[in-house]
Amino acid sequence: MRPHRAYHANLEPQISISGIEAAHLRVLRAKIGDSITVFNGAGLEAVGTILEATEHSFTLQLGAAQNTNREPPQPITLAIALLKADKLADVVRASSELGVSSIQLLITQHAEAKDIGTQKLERLRRVATEAAKQCQRNTIPSILEPIALTALTGAGIVAHPHSSRLPREAIQWDAPITIVSGPEGGFSNQEITLLEHKGFTRVTLGQRILRAETAALALLSSITAAEGI
Ligand code: SAM
Repeated sequence: MRPHRAYHANLEPQISISGIEAAHLRVLRAKIGDSITVFNGAGLEAVGTILEATEHSFTLQLGAAQNTNREPPQPITLAIALLKADKLADVVRASSELGVSSIQLLITQHAEAKDIGTQKLERLRRVATEAAKQCQRNTIPSILEPIALTALTGAGIVAHPHSSRLPREAIQWDAPITIVSGPEGGFSNQEITLLEHKGFTRVTLGQRILRAETAALALLSSITAAEGI
């Protein structure tokens, strides 16, 4: 059986795991002597053994930290218009599994929400950590506070219905990539023009109109899962 995984920011030779991570280990019935893989969310993992288990914490002896890279060749930012919190959580979970490096929340003209509270943002960060743990990824995607579409930087592609180019044809893998996906109400003409002026290429996700949360994941998977990275 594969060792359980836990997140801890510091991979020192001896660590103490408490809080939510300890609660998860308890649910998994982890016990003294069990092997656990601990990852630091910034690319490193170390295999350890449980030395001590109490009601609230686990003490682990860790081996050397290894840089086990399961990342795409360039960091990918998914810039996504604000959706309702439960839909965003689904997008964060699945896009973390699909290899996104960061998720930039966007305020757009037709976005379903105009802001997101600190608690919801923290919950999304927790979802990203859990997804990284589950999919054997050692890097936790960043969830970035909402910005206006006008403030978006980077270069890449924007999903827009009735476009002609395919995502993989429009992607340049020589620099970090930003992929942009719209709200349920779509981007306005003005927003699409602005994105094109910023250097984003419109791409299609097929002949059907996808829901906003489906579109974001289809866009990301078309350049990661579909390419085997
Ligand atoms: N009536 C809206 C429009 O025409 O843009 C539909 C918006 S769609 C429900 C939500 C978002 O998903 C769009 O803004 C776009 O980013 C993306 N999307 C959905 N289907 C798409 C497709 N077939 N090709 C490209 N992008 C798509």
